[in-house]
Amino acid sequence: MKLAARVGQVSPSLTLSITAKALAMKAEGIDICSFSAGEPDFATPVHIKTAAQKALDEGKTKYGPAAGEPKLREAIARKLREENGLCYAAENVIVTNGGKHSLYQLMMVLIEPGDEVIIPAPYWLSYPEMVKLAGGTPVIVPTDASTGYKITPEQLRASITPKTKLFVLNSPSNPTGMVYTPAEVKALAAVVVEADILVVSDEIYEKILYDDAEHLSIGAVGPEIFDRTIISNGFAKAFSMTGWRLGYLAGSVELIKAMITIQGHSTSNVCTFAQYGAIAALNDSQDCVEEMRLAFAERRQVMLERLNAIPGLSCAKPDGAFYMFPNISQTGLKSLEFCDGLLESQRVAVIPGVAFGADECIRLSYATDMASIETGMDRLEKFVRSL
Ligand code: PMP
Ligand code: GLU
Repeated sequence: MKLAARVGQVSPSLTLSITAKALAMKAEGIDICSFSAGEPDFATPVHIKTAAQKALDEGKTKYGPAAGEPKLREAIARKLREENGLCYAAENVIVTNGGKHSLYQLMMVLIEPGDEVIIPAPYWLSYPEMVKLAGGTPVIVPTDASTGYKITPEQLRASITPKTKLFVLNSPSNPTGMVYTPAEVKALAAVVVEADILVVSDEIYEKILYDDAEHLSIGAVGPEIFDRTIISNGFAKAFSMTGWRLGYLAGSVELIKAMITIQGHSTSNVCTFAQYGAIAALNDSQDCVEEMRLAFAERRQVMLERLNAIPGLSCAKPDGAFYMFPNISQTGLKSLEFCDGLLESQRVAVIPGVAFGADECIRLSYATDMASIETGMDRLEKFVRSL
C-alpha cells in the first residue's frame, strides 16, 4: 500500500508509545515505575463525574453543535475574561477533543506550505509534527539552562523572517516545567507586535504553579498583542480529565469559524455529555484544582532532591507543570540509550529528551504517587551508579 507522503514526514508520539509500553509491562505483571505520561494520577473530581452522569441520564446523548455546547462555550469565555483578563465572548471559543486537537486544527486553518512556525526547544513533541502535517516549516530555536530553558526576546526577533506566521509559546512548559515571568511575557509580546506575527499560547498547565510563579496570559498584555493571540487550553491537566478528551481554543471570530468548519467535517462535536462535566469543572468550586496542585508540589520537592543527589545528574527547579527535565550528559549516554537501559535493567520508564529536541536530558513526570517516586528514584540512582 502506498501511504500519503505526509505520513513519512512525522514521527509517532514517543510519550504515548512509551506510556503504552509501560502499561503493557505492568499488565504482564512486571513491577514497573512509570514516570512517562504527563497524566495526573488522581481520579476526576466527583462533582465533575456527577454532572456528566446526570447529563447522560437526561439524554444528552445526541449530536450537538460542532463548536461545542453553548453553555460550555459561555463558561469558557467567562473563565478567560475573569481569570485571564482576555476579552472573549462565547463566539470566540471552540470546544475540541483535547488541547492536542485544538493545536492540530489551528495548524490546519493557519499554516500552509512556505509558512514558518517558531518553536522554542525543548518543546512538547507534537508541535513540530503538527506544523509538518499542515505543510509548514517548524523553526526550532534551541534554549538551555542558562536562560531557564526560555526563549529570549532577542532570540525570538532573530528567528523571525518574512515567512514567519506563528510563534508557539508554552508556559508553564512541557517538558521543562519552566514558567515565563510576567516581565518575560511582556517582552516577548512586544516582539510579536513589532514583527506583526501571531502567537499561540498553550496554557494547559496554567493552574500548576509553585512558590511565587505567576501565570500571565500573553493576550492580556495589551490590545495589540490580544489581536495577534490565540489561546489553547484544556481540562486534562488541571481537572485530571485526560481521557475525557476536552480542550478549547479561543481567538478571533474569523479563526473560530474556520475551525468550526474543519471540525464539522472531521470530528463534529466533542462527546455531548462529557461537555457537561466540563461545565461543572469551570463553574463549580476550584478547590479540587488546588488540592491536586498541593500534592504535586510535595512530590516535586522529593523528586528534585533525589535527582540532584544522584552524581552525574543535574536538574533545574521547575516552577510549574509536573515534569522534571534533568541533564544526563555527564553519564556519557544519549537520551534514548539512557532510557532504554533504565527500562531494561531497572524497570523505570521515562521519556528521552531527544523527543523534545534536547538529547542531553530526560523527562520524568511526577504526576504519580509518592511511593512510586521513592522506589523509582532508588532504581534510577542504582542505574546511574552502575554506568
Ligand atoms: N499541550 C501540552 C504542552 C501538553 O503537554 C499536552 C498533553 N497532552 C497537550 C497540549 C494536550 O493535552 P490534551 O490533548 O490531553 O488536552
Ligand atoms: N502531553 C502529555 C505528555 O507529554 C500526554 C501525552 C501526549 O499527549 O503527548 O506526556
